[in-house]
Amino acid sequence: MHFSLLSVLGQALRGQRGWTPHWRDAGPRDAYDVVIVGGGGHGLAAAYYLAKEHGITDVAVLERSHVGSGNVGRNTTIVRSNYGLPGNIPFYERSMKLWEGLEQDINYNAMVSQRGVLNLYHSDGQRDAYARRGNAMRLAAVDAELLDREGVRAIVPFIDFDNARFPVKGGLLQRRGGTVRHDAVAWGYARAADARGVDIVQNCAVTGIRREGGRVVGVETCRGPIRARKVALSVAGSSSLVAAMAGLRLPIESHVLQAFVSEGVKPLIDGVMTFGAGHFYISQSDKGGLVFGGDIDGYNSYAQRGNLATIEDVMESGMALWPGLGRLRLLRHWGGIMDMSMDGSPIIDRTPVDGLYLNAGWCYGGFKATPAAGFCFAHLIARDEAHPDAAAFRLDRFATGHLIDEKGVGAQPNLH
Ligand SMILES: Cc1cc2nc3c(=O)[nH]c(=O)nc-3n(C[C@H](O)[C@H](O)[C@H](O)COP(=O)(O)OP(=O)(O)OC[C@H]3O[C@@H](n4cnc5c(N)ncnc54)[C@H](O)[C@@H]3O)c2cc1C
Repeated sequence: MHFSLLSVLGQALRGQRGWTPHWRDAGPRDAYDVVIVGGGGHGLAAAYYLAKEHGITDVAVLERSHVGSGNVGRNTTIVRSNYGLPGNIPFYERSMKLWEGLEQDINYNAMVSQRGVLNLYHSDGQRDAYARRGNAMRLAAVDAELLDREGVRAIVPFIDFDNARFPVKGGLLQRRGGTVRHDAVAWGYARAADARGVDIVQNCAVTGIRREGGRVVGVETCRGPIRARKVALSVAGSSSLVAAMAGLRLPIESHVLQAFVSEGVKPLIDGVMTFGAGHFYISQSDKGGLVFGGDIDGYNSYAQRGNLATIEDVMESGMALWPGLGRLRLLRHWGGIMDMSMDGSPIIDRTPVDGLYLNAGWCYGGFKATPAAGFCFAHLIARDEAHPDAAAFRLDRFATGHLIDEKGVGAQPNLH
């Protein structure tokens, strides 16, 4: 089934009765060349690029629930490539370029919307840090614009510029950043991977990792054992639990991150805006709801729901920036489990267990990375060597000290 203007018009004339399922409901086979654990955005993207870029199609993606039930369907949909460190810039810019061509590539409407991402600054020191980051981006041919107060006022005139504690002095704008419909990304990659022969197996929880002589030979699942030459973990907030099945202890903590949507209102804000003096970011969905979020809940948890204290904290940051928000009603909120690494950067690497590969530690920001993470993880699995754009995301950096701490805040998860 190919989506095009003609197919949409044709279906409209036939009463929308000719659509077929987007992917096969595959049952697990006894053996595969590659088993990917986790049917989130990253796992599905890795499967797609394994098939497309490396011709490896004897692949199963095992998802314990349904596709899109994890963080890929729970995030606030922001994509950007405004990073400043050499280990990060080429990776996130690759992701941005893949987003820009994604819908054509996978023939799926993911609602990629490059509406701009604006990071506000509130002090001279913060302005200098943003100027430095913007310059690093521009040197790497990534778009960035440093705005003064009037430049910001032209975009978001309604925020509190003269807040006594956190006056808004300007912002760093990346116009190519924006939003992408989160669950459509999972569905689109699942459909595209399936079309190339990958088995997407839902309701198939991995319960063990089988090893012989220090090498992976397969997985145990709730639907029976599956043999595999290579096993790739892409389970986001469950990374520590699943890696422990292979005897590995990861430098990762799991925390809940909550997101919020207000009642629908007329268009108010056309891009993404982040507060620089607290953790708060906001955009508006096409349905009119204001979508926002902030800090992780402060304690470790594998629950997909958060607590009231964090809701209050996020609202306080929002009100400090945009007092008018206080007139809105909150429609709903939810939580996802974040795999917080100790330097705020991810891991895409082999593990000490032969044939076992790891994609984890995405903290607050793994959605924007989905295409590049899938692309680079597929490269690693297929060739047994790191893709140059992801070469810094090594597992052993926590032992060697080669950390990639974008914000320079140390090993405190909530500050990343
Ligand atoms: C509230 C919130 C807001 C966010 N906002 C943003 C944002 O605006 N921008 C951004 O870039 N990032 C954001 N993120 C982070 C981003 O969503 C994640 O980093 C990213 O989605 C993680 O990759 P994934 O999509 O593969 O994860 P997931 O969708 O969580 O995929 C992992 C999958 O593994 C499955 N799994 C786990 N254990 C097993 C098992 N034993 N067997 C089989 N399957 C298993 C899970 O069911 C899950 O479906 C946000 C996250 C949250 C929670």
